[in-house]
Amino acid sequence: MAEKRINLNTPVVESREQRLGTIIAWDGKASDLSKESAYARGGCGGQQDGNGCRLCEARGAFTQGSVCSEQMVECQAGNVRDAVLIQHSPIGCGAGQVIYNSIYRNGLAMRNLPVESIRIICTNLQESDMVFGGVEKLRQSVQDAKERYDPKAIFISTSCATGIIGDDIDSVAAEYEEAYNIPVIPLHCEGFRSKHWSTGFDATQHGILRQIVKKNPTKQEDLVNVINLWGSDVFTPMLKELNLRVNYVIDLASVADLEQLSEAAATVGFCYTLSSYMAAALEQEFGVPEIKAPQPYGFAGTDAWIRELARVTHREELAEAYIAREHAKVKPRIEELRTQLKGIKGYVATGSAYAHGLIAVLRELGVEVNGSLVFHHDPIYDSGDPRQDSLAHLIDNYGDVPAFSVSNRQQYQFYGLLQRVNPDFILIRHNGLAPLASRLGIPAAPLGDEHIAIGYEGIVNLGEAILDVLAHKKFHQDLAAHVKLPYKKWWLEQEDPFILSKEPDVVNA
Ligand code: SF4
Repeated sequence: MAEKRINLNTPVVESREQRLGTIIAWDGKASDLSKESAYARGGCGGQQDGNGCRLCEARGAFTQGSVCSEQMVECQAGNVRDAVLIQHSPIGCGAGQVIYNSIYRNGLAMRNLPVESIRIICTNLQESDMVFGGVEKLRQSVQDAKERYDPKAIFISTSCATGIIGDDIDSVAAEYEEAYNIPVIPLHCEGFRSKHWSTGFDATQHGILRQIVKKNPTKQEDLVNVINLWGSDVFTPMLKELNLRVNYVIDLASVADLEQLSEAAATVGFCYTLSSYMAAALEQEFGVPEIKAPQPYGFAGTDAWIRELARVTHREELAEAYIAREHAKVKPRIEELRTQLKGIKGYVATGSAYAHGLIAVLRELGVEVNGSLVFHHDPIYDSGDPRQDSLAHLIDNYGDVPAFSVSNRQQYQFYGLLQRVNPDFILIRHNGLAPLASRLGIPAAPLGDEHIAIGYEGIVNLGEAILDVLAHKKFHQDLAAHVKLPYKKWWLEQEDPFILSKEPDVVNA
C-alpha cells in the first residue's frame, strides 16, 4: 500500500514546516532556490519526499508584524456561506474581521451571490479566562451561534491564548456535534504553531476533510473542484469549453459544496500554495485526481494545465480546439500590449506559487522582471510531483529572476528590495506593503481580484491593468517628493535588506 503523505487521523494539522520544509526568509537567485529545493533538480540529494530537505533559512533577531494562521482560518472557514466561525480568542485576534467582511461582501457581489456579512463570533477571552479557563465562554458562543444563525456547520478556531491555557476545544466540539447533529469542527491554528500563515489554509482544509466531506461519495464525472479565494468567476467559462462544471471552494462555498468535494472528477487550484493540502488529501482519501501540471498562467502553463485536465477527464479533443481558438483570439492583442509595455520593469510581491505564475505572465507581456518577493517558499508541495514545481516551470520557460527574495511581509526589508531593481510598478495582493512602494514613487496594482491573470484572457487582463497602473505614476512621484520614510538614514543606506540576519551585531556597531 502506498505511504500516506497526509494524516487525517488527528484533529491537528501538521504544519507546513513539518510537512514541506517551508521557509520564510531567503535571498538570492530564483534558480539557486530551485536547486536547493527538494524537487527533481537534485536539491538535498534529490529527495522528493518533502521530509529530507531543509533549506538554509535566513534567521534574524528582528521581525515586524505579519499575519498568522488563525487569520487565514478566519478568511477561509469564516467565508463558508451557511456556516459560523467561532474564534476562541481574545478580541484582538478578531481585528481582521473588518477587512475580511469587506472582502467577503465584495467576493459575493463579484460572483452574483446574495451579499451578506461574515458570520464570525469571538469568545473575547479576558485575563480571568486565562487563569480559570475559557471553556464555558466557548460553550455559550456555540449555543449563541446555533440560536442566531442555525448554521449547517460550526467551525471553532484556536488562538495563541487557548494554546497556552490548553482549553479542551475538541471535547466541546464533539459534545455539540452530537447535540446539534451538524459538523462542529475544531481548527487548531494557534498563531505560534507555525511560522507561516499558510498553515492556516491547511488547518481549515484538514477540518473540512475530516468532518464535512462525504465519506461515501457518488461520483459526478463533470464536476471539478476549484480551490480558490474570492476571485471573479473565470473558471466557469474556461471549464465549460470542456463540458465541465465548477465547484468553487472554500471561500464563498456552501456546506453542500464542501460535502461534494469527494464526488468530483478532478481538483485544480489557482495557486498551489493554497490548494496543495486539500487537493493531495482528496486524491489520497477519495481518489479524486489532483491535476498535476504547471499552474494556468501564460501560454505554456495554461496549455499544459488544460491538456492535463482534459486527459484526466477524457476530453482531449475539446481541449485542443479550445487551445487553438484562444491562442488565435488573444495573440494579436498581446502583441499590441508588448509594444506598449516595451522597456517597462515590473516587480511581483505576493504569495509563493502565485508569484511564479504572475512573473510568467509579465514575461509573456515583455515586461522586465529582475526581482520578486515571495512571502514564503515551499520546497515541495504535498503531492511531491515534479510537474507541480511551479518555480522550476517559471525558470525553464521564462528564465531566471536574479533578485528573488523570501520574506513574510517585512516592511523594513521591502525598501531595500525595491531599491535593488527600481521597478516602474509592482504587483501585490497584500496591501500592507503597497503604501511603502507609493512613498517611493512606485505605483502598485493591488490585484483585489486574484483571478485577473489566469488563462489566456488573463495575459490580456494583466497587461491592461498594468497600463492603468502606469497612468498613475505621476501621482506617486508627487507623493514620493513630499513624504518621509519612517526609517533612519542608517537603515536606508544599508545595501543588503537581509543584513540583520547575516550580521546581527551591525545594530550595535
Ligand atoms: S492567534 Fe496569536 S498570532 Fe494570531 S492574531 Fe491571535 S494572538 Fe496574534
